[in-house]
Amino acid sequence: MYLNKFIFNLEMASFMAKGRILVIGIGAMGSAFLENIKSKDLDEIGIFDGDIITESNLFNQPFYSGYYRSKAQSKVEFALDKLGKTSKNTKYTGYDRYFGKRDAGILKDYDLILDFTDNIKSRTIINYACIKAKKPAIYSSINEREGTVYFYGDGSACFNCILRNSIGKIKEGCESHTAIPTKDFIDFITQSVDDFFKDKAEFGKLSVFDFSKAGRFSLNIKKDSDCEACSKDSLVIDDDEFIQICSSGIKFSAGKELDLGNLAGYLKGSRLTEEYLIVDNGGRTAFISRQGDFLLTGYNKDEARELLSSILAYDSKKKNQA
Ligand SMILES: [Zn+2]
Repeated sequence: MYLNKFIFNLEMASFMAKGRILVIGIGAMGSAFLENIKSKDLDEIGIFDGDIITESNLFNQPFYSGYYRSKAQSKVEFALDKLGKTSKNTKYTGYDRYFGKRDAGILKDYDLILDFTDNIKSRTIINYACIKAKKPAIYSSINEREGTVYFYGDGSACFNCILRNSIGKIKEGCESHTAIPTKDFIDFITQSVDDFFKDKAEFGKLSVFDFSKAGRFSLNIKKDSDCEACSKDSLVIDDDEFIQICSSGIKFSAGKELDLGNLAGYLKGSRLTEEYLIVDNGGRTAFISRQGDFLLTGYNKDEARELLSSILAYDSKKKNQA
């Protein structure tokens, strides 16, 4: 009995020292974190993002400098290539799309989830999926002045508890000007991951970094007994349509795969590459991936909606005919 327990503890210890993490969102924060965590030799790092690299990313995302400019390249593809080349012990797995409800099943393959996305809708989806899968998670965000890190799991308050009690105070990083995350901030997140695998995680603790004063304060978040996500299990999320405005353009996820060959015939002036359909329309560009993710530049929100609904209607019509 004692021996069994001893062996079990040994196994736990070796398992906990290394681990598998899923990084969702590799913009300014996520990409800096990937650069920082690589020396920790984790067993596996999963990387989720549907975005492609654009010139406007480079000023606050040095991770992507040196990308192949003449070709549309996804952030995930670039990251796997860059990190995979130097990695000895860590396996990198890429998911070249935005995280949606359909992806909840992937969480079971990881020990800890890191949410570096830049909008409330994504965080809400990730938060609920983590609660249902009983996976601990770190949610992190930045705006122009400060960075926030919150560690939840093990029955603590969740992201939705914070959101429902801070109406209007949580900004969407993607719609506001974001700062470049400081080294202290990224080190803190990396340290939190390390603590987790050493069984020293502090669930329910929110840490806020003030970038201008280089100061930090922490507070404990109380679980909300009315929270639809962690207390009542009644949260309704509609992620069929998903539109967000970011520095790199307008992002949208159709939440389903698209037949790019069909769309190439429909969209005038489009060009089909292995991964994308690229539409160049006099200063306005659309990148459409097979997974159904869009990045539109030069369009306003109404024009984007019009284009997106015409594309989706055409795609459904073609699928119905087939
Ligand atoms: Zn909650």
